[in-house]
Amino acid sequence: MKEQILVTRPSMPPLEDYMELIRPLWESAWLTNMGKLHGEFQKQLEEYLAVPEVSLMVNGHMSLEMTLQALHLEGEVITTPYTFASTTHAIVRNGLTPVFCDINSDNYTIDATKIEDLITERTSAIVPVHIYGQLCDVNAIYEIAKKHNLKVVYDACHAFGERIDHSMICREMVETLPLRKEETGENTIGVGNFGDASVFSFHATKVFHTLEGGAATFSDHRMGERLYRLKNFGIMSETDVDGVGANAKMNEFQAAMGLCNLKYIDSEIAKRKLRIDRYREQLEHVKGLKLLPEQKGIHSNYAYFPVVFQEEFPKSRDVVHQLLRQENIYARKYFYPLTSAFQCYSGMFDPAKTPIAQYVSEHVLVLPLYADLPLDVIDRVCQIILGK
Ligand SMILES: *Cc1c(COP(=O)(O)O)cnc(C)c1O
Repeated sequence: MKEQILVTRPSMPPLEDYMELIRPLWESAWLTNMGKLHGEFQKQLEEYLAVPEVSLMVNGHMSLEMTLQALHLEGEVITTPYTFASTTHAIVRNGLTPVFCDINSDNYTIDATKIEDLITERTSAIVPVHIYGQLCDVNAIYEIAKKHNLKVVYDACHAFGERIDHSMICREMVETLPLRKEETGENTIGVGNFGDASVFSFHATKVFHTLEGGAATFSDHRMGERLYRLKNFGIMSETDVDGVGANAKMNEFQAAMGLCNLKYIDSEIAKRKLRIDRYREQLEHVKGLKLLPEQKGIHSNYAYFPVVFQEEFPKSRDVVHQLLRQENIYARKYFYPLTSAFQCYSGMFDPAKTPIAQYVSEHVLVLPLYADLPLDVIDRVCQIILGK
């Protein structure tokens, strides 16, 4: 049997790098609760992501849950069903009602032209997802949120480190950005600057990881203060507890992994790009295979390589999935089923109301992709897909 190939594989920094960082922990015995490495990692991330503030968390999911809580939302939240379970669960676990908007068939992000029809007097926020690292229509979402006075929290778990050219962003929104071009001299802005907040996941399987981990990015300092308390049980001081918080703090071992991986992230992303190019060479322009668009003006992190197997292609998604599995290659049906079709939400939503999301979810397969994926494995995957 050939070696097992999974859809992803965590990046591992040199062991010595990690040892060097964690060794002092044996002396200080300060393992969590906003320690020294936590502080250092937070500072470096603010710089790398080019955002005014970062709040580090135990994982991506709690980052989203805490951020929604910190905004004191009520009622309905417009979101996408074409995402990981976390997005929808975070909304529901905050006592909010998700209202599912369809996605666009171009890049599978929320279809901003369909958002306004779903707004009611109960709507308090929009939670779009930069799925596969594809940027949502941030300009249109900004306009809608402003017009209807809604909060926006981006699930940016797939978009770590992405940058957007200034020219892509509408003039008015650029004016509101906390880190202005005039001040930074940069021609690009970090993806974490849109909306009221963005959340990232540093899970082992993501482009950048801290074992498990996550963060929220935002510009309102009050948001930072609220999150700081909420992620530590709402504790203000020894005797004052003023929020129904939880435990969502990042510990020192996670921060150490983050500091190590951050050193290599740019070369890891470059290696991913090389692998995506290899896939593209073989699968682009094949009738019935739809690949992600290369978004112009966006510096991608090359997080995923999803392929939609349309009817014109001789093999279905499920057949390809099975053929790969026979070769010990584990591609994944991300994202199937839609979150609105989950058993735990049975009878609450109608997945047929988001037909494009339903179609994509039934036809998509995410192919193996990670920085050290051997190129000959990519060639083999392509041969299996294209073979007779
Ligand atoms: C991974 C992921 C999350 C959750 O992040 P964890 O760190 O695993 O908790 C949320 N949303 C999306 C889109 C994700 O891919």
